[in-house]
Amino acid sequence: MAPQGLPRLPRFDRFQARLALLCTGLFGAALLVSALLLPLLHPLTEAMKPHEAAVIGGLSFAVVALIVLVIGFRTMVGDLRDRESRLTHIALHDQETGLPNRLALERLAASQQGLWVILVGIDRFEVVRDAIGYDAMANLITAVGRRLALTSGASISRVSAAVLGLAVTAETEEEALAIAAALAESARDPFNISGAPVDITLTAGVARRGGAEAHLTSPVDRAASAIARARRLRLQAAGFDPDAYGDPSGNLSLISELMAALDNGEFSLAYQPKYDFRAERITGVEALARWTHPRRGAVPPDLFVGMAEETGHIRPLTEWVVRQAILDQKTMAAAGHEVIVSINISGRLLSDDSFADFALEQVSASGARLCFEITETAVMHDPERALGVIDRLSAAGVLISLDDYGSGLSSLTYLKRIQADELKIDKTFVVDMDQSGRDALLVKSTIDLAHGLGLKITAEGVETPTALALLRGMGCDMAQGYLIGRPCALDALILRLDGPSAETGATAVA
Ligand code: C2E
Ligand code: CA
Ligand code: CA
Repeated sequence: MAPQGLPRLPRFDRFQARLALLCTGLFGAALLVSALLLPLLHPLTEAMKPHEAAVIGGLSFAVVALIVLVIGFRTMVGDLRDRESRLTHIALHDQETGLPNRLALERLAASQQGLWVILVGIDRFEVVRDAIGYDAMANLITAVGRRLALTSGASISRVSAAVLGLAVTAETEEEALAIAAALAESARDPFNISGAPVDITLTAGVARRGGAEAHLTSPVDRAASAIARARRLRLQAAGFDPDAYGDPSGNLSLISELMAALDNGEFSLAYQPKYDFRAERITGVEALARWTHPRRGAVPPDLFVGMAEETGHIRPLTEWVVRQAILDQKTMAAAGHEVIVSINISGRLLSDDSFADFALEQVSASGARLCFEITETAVMHDPERALGVIDRLSAAGVLISLDDYGSGLSSLTYLKRIQADELKIDKTFVVDMDQSGRDALLVKSTIDLAHGLGLKITAEGVETPTALALLRGMGCDMAQGYLIGRPCALDALILRLDGPSAETGATAVA
């Protein structure tokens, strides 16, 4: 992004400037008149010859004019300096929080070799803002800035609404990443905003000043792209990856290719098994969309799902997934395997009654046993409509699962109001639970909470036998993750289901 230009002079300043000009003009004119006329009218001047009076008049005018000029000039220079420093301050600071802004950070980053830009993004910014209000959000950002400054010892800038940034010196990317991870970690303890604790998570991205990628964009842009990458990879901090950044115009053409790709058979579904601890077998699968582009190869789901959501293509994509999942479920049933198929439903579709009509038609015509995975954020966007759509689906026998539980701002109020059947603990807690006592505790209390509310609980991201054993001991209902099985194509899934009902299986990668 190009550096921002200087802001226009505020309206009040322009008015003051005109007024000052007018006053100076009037004052000057009055001086001129008095300097020329008064000596002529003064009794002393009667004894003088007209040209002597004129010389005295001229001299007194020159003296007065000089004094006025000197005073005026000094005031003007002072004003200009004030104005310039005020404008510089406006141009380099965020109006809401008073922190230095993006331009300030860009200048700082350009000032010295060997600097790394670290950006720290507040996860689910809009959800948090909607929950606590705009004023509290401004206080929260200031508090986050203070904590980041304390942790890093650097000056913190506000780069955009949800992103703060700083520049640090580091020898290697590992060193910069370690600082970035410590900054993201600093949000572990809640922030106290007007006496109430606010719990947020942070994700950081780092980028080097200069380097081979310097021609792509500014380090601030690259660090922003690294935040998106960290979120995709579910990491606390990530570096910039020029390959993942790709070519934005290429992504543009992807959007226009998406519709044709659905018709051309470039899309497929990968299925990831869900192991039921009590039944001791796989009783469900999650359908995950895959796009194999003829030139680009596999397009990451987070990329095309995000793009489809932004461009209104999510509806046809999800309709395709629903139809295909129903067909595949019939194929599984024909092979002797009755499994519930879970489908991810984007938030936008939850406030779309006609999508619910479509889904209900498909379910009643096929008798399919589906589960819709939704996220809390989706519900909190337009709660009344979403809860209405969920109730309709639920009444028609579609199971409802709350996906990624714990990864954002969880609200017990919504948890109580949503007619859900299942809660899926976000994989970030599960992946680390055999090393982190805190995560294990969170998982255990989430399992108890879900059971208390009459919900089944699935832990996703089960990668190790230790995690699986811990979950079993905690009374978890289902496990999903690379240990049980990676997402795989339908025929590989059927082979797996045909085999002995072991909880861990072959790890086919789709
Ligand atoms: P999700 O719903 O949380 O799906 C689970 C993701 O975690 C999948 O990534 C899966 O491959 C990955 N995963 C499964 N087991 C493990 C594990 O043990 N460890 C780790 N680290 N990861 C594991 P995938 O397939 O890349 O999907 C990413 C996201 O894309 C999904 O996250 C979902 O939000 C979205 N997505 C995928 N297909 C669809 C779709 O058809 N519609 C919509 N709306 N979203 C979809
Ligand atoms: Ca999911
Ligand atoms: Ca999930």
